[in-house]
Amino acid sequence: MSEFLFRQTPPAEPIQFDGEKCTNCGRCLEVCMIDVMLPGEKHPIAAYPDECWYCGCCVMECPEGAIRLRHPLMNQTRWVEKASLLKKEKE
Ligand code: SF4
Ligand code: SF4
Repeated sequence: MSEFLFRQTPPAEPIQFDGEKCTNCGRCLEVCMIDVMLPGEKHPIAAYPDECWYCGCCVMECPEGAIRLRHPLMNQTRWVEKASLLKKEKE
């Protein structure tokens, strides 16, 4: 029987919490429609990261700016700054 080597895909890490900024208010938990997060001791935890839609609602809802959304590489290649789109419209 031959052996196959499979490249391991690293697990998704869509959201990262800044433990220094987070007050554990739970607003991000409330707004996430997929229930990606569960309550944690110091800040919420991303319990189901593979389910994330990368919608950014949790980031927008956080009053402390304590969440960083990390888009997968596939999305990053299509990312454009909103300001640059508005600039093109005016031209
Ligand atoms: S909304 Fe922001 S401050 Fe509140 S629990 Fe979530 S990450 Fe922490
Ligand atoms: S980006 Fe959207 S789907 Fe992902 S954890 Fe935040 S609110 Fe939930």
